[in-house]
Amino acid sequence: MGIHILPDTVVARIAAGEVVERPASVVKELVENAIDAGADDIRVECLESGKRLIRVTDNGSGIRADEAELAFQHHATSKLRDAEDLSHIRSLGFRGEALASIAAVSQVTCVTRHHEENSGTLLRLDGGKVTHQERVGRPPGTTITVEHLFAHVPARLKFLKSNQTERSQIDNLVTRYALAYPHIRFTLIHEGRVSFQSAGSGQLRDVLVAAFGGEEAAQMVPIASDPLATITVSGFASLPSLDHANRSRILLFVNGRPVQDTRLAFAVIQAYHTLLTTGRYPVAVVLVQLPPEEVDVNVHPAKAEVRFRDADAVFSAVQRSVRRAVLDHLQPPEAPSALPQAWRAQLAATSPAALTDAQPASPLQPQAQPPIPGSERWERVGIARQSSSGQWSLPAAPVPPPPAASSNSLPALRILGQLATTYILAEGPEGLYLIDQHAAHERILWERAMAQLDLGQVPSQVLLDPIPVTVPVSGAHLLEMHLETLRAIGFEIERFGNNTFLVRSVPAIMFQDDIAAAIREIVADLEEGDAVLQRDVEAKVLRRVCKRMAIKAGRVLSLAEMQALVRDLEQCESPRTCPHGRPTMIHISVATLANEFKR
Ligand code: ADP
Ligand code: MG
Repeated sequence: MGIHILPDTVVARIAAGEVVERPASVVKELVENAIDAGADDIRVECLESGKRLIRVTDNGSGIRADEAELAFQHHATSKLRDAEDLSHIRSLGFRGEALASIAAVSQVTCVTRHHEENSGTLLRLDGGKVTHQERVGRPPGTTITVEHLFAHVPARLKFLKSNQTERSQIDNLVTRYALAYPHIRFTLIHEGRVSFQSAGSGQLRDVLVAAFGGEEAAQMVPIASDPLATITVSGFASLPSLDHANRSRILLFVNGRPVQDTRLAFAVIQAYHTLLTTGRYPVAVVLVQLPPEEVDVNVHPAKAEVRFRDADAVFSAVQRSVRRAVLDHLQPPEAPSALPQAWRAQLAATSPAALTDAQPASPLQPQAQPPIPGSERWERVGIARQSSSGQWSLPAAPVPPPPAASSNSLPALRILGQLATTYILAEGPEGLYLIDQHAAHERILWERAMAQLDLGQVPSQVLLDPIPVTVPVSGAHLLEMHLETLRAIGFEIERFGNNTFLVRSVPAIMFQDDIAAAIREIVADLEEGDAVLQRDVEAKVLRRVCKRMAIKAGRVLSLAEMQALVRDLEQCESPRTCPHGRPTMIHISVATLANEFKR
């Protein structure tokens, strides 16, 4: 046989093989089209596990009468215009290959009505060629019926598995999409009987109950990550009471697309480190959302694989939020601890209105220990900083440039206890962590302060009585010079005498500090260094404030306090060093331990 170009029909069948492998792949493509069309009610009907018939009905946008035939041509799509669009795909489809490929290997009937048109279109195709077209009535939406799949492709037909296998492929597929799109009502019908239905309530918990049953759903807990982060993770993960013999029940979705990704599945498994017996695997539905330009979906014909621009970041986001979800449920915070109240007290203290009636910091109040400054939640501020960072140069002082976030960020940790009232012992997926409570808290307060500074709103607290502070003559001039700068970070100070100043308000975080001592320290700092630029001065002063307010070594911490502290540390951009560049923690890996024990 000499070299020749294959006829179109043969080319089409070869191409079809890449997209359409089995009945479930037809269901997948048709369901994706329905989702892309904005449907909130999708019905999938099958006869003989889809070998004889697959019908997908949706109430989406429908196809215009004059475009119906076009939709079945190769590379015909409404979802992509140019090569540039490929880098930020928001729809599930984009190749314009599915309908053409399906039509090439089956008999297709399409009945569709575009929502802006008065009548619908019926189109019949056999082996990819239109055999019949007419106008029909129907409500807006689309029904595509695929019959006699692979009837003309004996090679394919031969490789189809038993009805049972093909059917379970379809079942898995439909439940997956139902989990990823809780606001869509999915109905799956085999041989005329409803075998699965989701409510379309918008609640993933409802779909879990429909898909896995109430008993399993009750043993799963919601996964949550910071909703404002670039990579968000949601879904549900099993508590250790529910596990599985293999990893097949770890369901992963990236931007609403079910994906197979060994690494992401591994991230989920890692999140259960030491929580499950070896050889047992979690059950999880993990939905990752990230900007479309961060992920390449165009690497696999069936789009089941994706490639991430920063795979490490996705890995750690998944591992961290799943572990967090599970640990939070395993370790309910200690019985009514003093801490939450202390947080509330401190929050109240920052609002001027609260000052008149509530005096949380009163030394007369019986209080075992003062609350930890800055221990209220502050993720939102932290995130705002990410988005507005870059507006100012890093302080010249010894803040190390943050290394790549992924290598630097912390996994979710489980608190084991406190050592020498100085260190927090915690366990993570990669071993033991010894955290210096003072350095860690300093880091937390510092990042928070910087974030507030970026936003231009460092909370300030007016003192009931202004406090006079006398500073060395040498420093008085310097302090005077920086009064405006200090105002930006919450200090209201005015000159009162030669080298005496009156402090009227301070950053809210300092509400328990010895103000006079603090100001003298700050003046000493200013004298010592060479900070001239406003940002350098601000950073320098705030670094001192954070150091003063960070909890000290020697303080006994409750479990709840340690959990709160470590959680705040996990949120930090550079959790592994304090603002002065010293380590906040020592990490001893499981491998190191094994080595030491000569195991
Ligand atoms: P792709 O989804 O990659 O664009 P398809 O071959 O699956 O390619 O579909 C081709 C086009 O047909 C789509 O871009 C869309 O405009 C239209 N289409 C297909 N199915 C539907 C549907 N259920 N509802 C509305 N439009 C549809
Ligand atoms: Mg499609």
